[in-house]
Amino acid sequence: MKNWMGLLLGAVLAAPGSLLAAKPLNVFTTTADLADVVRAVGGERVRVESLSKGYQDAHFVEAKPSLIVKLMSADLFIQTGLELEAGWATVLVQGSRNSRIQLGAPGYLDASSAVKPLEVPQNPDRAMGDVHPGGNPHYMLDPENVRLVAREIAKRLSSLSPADSAFFRERLGNFEVRLEENLRKWKERMEPFRGARFVSYHRNLPYFADRFGLISVGEVEPKPGIPPTAAHTADLIGRMKAEKVGLIITQPYYEDRSPASIAKQTGATVVVFSMAPSGEPGGSDYFSNMDANIESVRRALAAAAGTK
Ligand SMILES: [Zn+2]
Repeated sequence: MKNWMGLLLGAVLAAPGSLLAAKPLNVFTTTADLADVVRAVGGERVRVESLSKGYQDAHFVEAKPSLIVKLMSADLFIQTGLELEAGWATVLVQGSRNSRIQLGAPGYLDASSAVKPLEVPQNPDRAMGDVHPGGNPHYMLDPENVRLVAREIAKRLSSLSPADSAFFRERLGNFEVRLEENLRKWKERMEPFRGARFVSYHRNLPYFADRFGLISVGEVEPKPGIPPTAAHTADLIGRMKAEKVGLIITQPYYEDRSPASIAKQTGATVVVFSMAPSGEPGGSDYFSNMDANIESVRRALAAAAGTK
């Protein structure tokens, strides 16, 4: 009898999310946008941290030993996938030797499994240095994808902590309501600019452009991850003039010389767009970050159209 009780107690203590083992799930995400979704869905039943900051280029983060140490205690690791973090996340996960979060384990989640990727190449060509060989990984800028990712995260949190599944389901519901309200508002604000053309430094806005009716004319980079060349820049300027493009979107981690020079030659406005919360400029969570981005894009397009 005593042994049986001991076994039972052991099982209860070992089960994550059980009443006795009321320790929050320890979650690490590669990016700040995913961390914000985990926070929204998981509430106080998770402890979540992003391995990169919103102001960092998620393609190129240094795989520091301190990040490996963090992952040693993770119950769940979530990445954007589509090779966004291919250069550093795999090194960290493998380096942690934490069996709970290795590829294929219940504590490993590739969020891209929840979305339909855009721009999946027929013949991926990594040799050219293209950092988007598996399709475009910047899908979190479409709020509809964030909804799908939030559902996937709720499902995974529930399977890791079944006792909390009703709690996660309720928080997911609340998050989806907020998302719906915000999306309606953002679409209304962008509606007057439907069909407006823009150029971006890196090809990171196809999902955003599709959702909000903007048309991409090209990028400052000749290919994702490849620095600008004189010939490519001259060609881009020619197209921008021909198509009267008034907006260049960039990120703080790209050099600002090229966008400034292109803006000077075309009369376009440069907007700094924050890819994830905790970036600069931008907001501290997904909603406020997107709010700030949409406001700066909208203002620049209004100025370009002379309807300020
Ligand atoms: Zn990219």
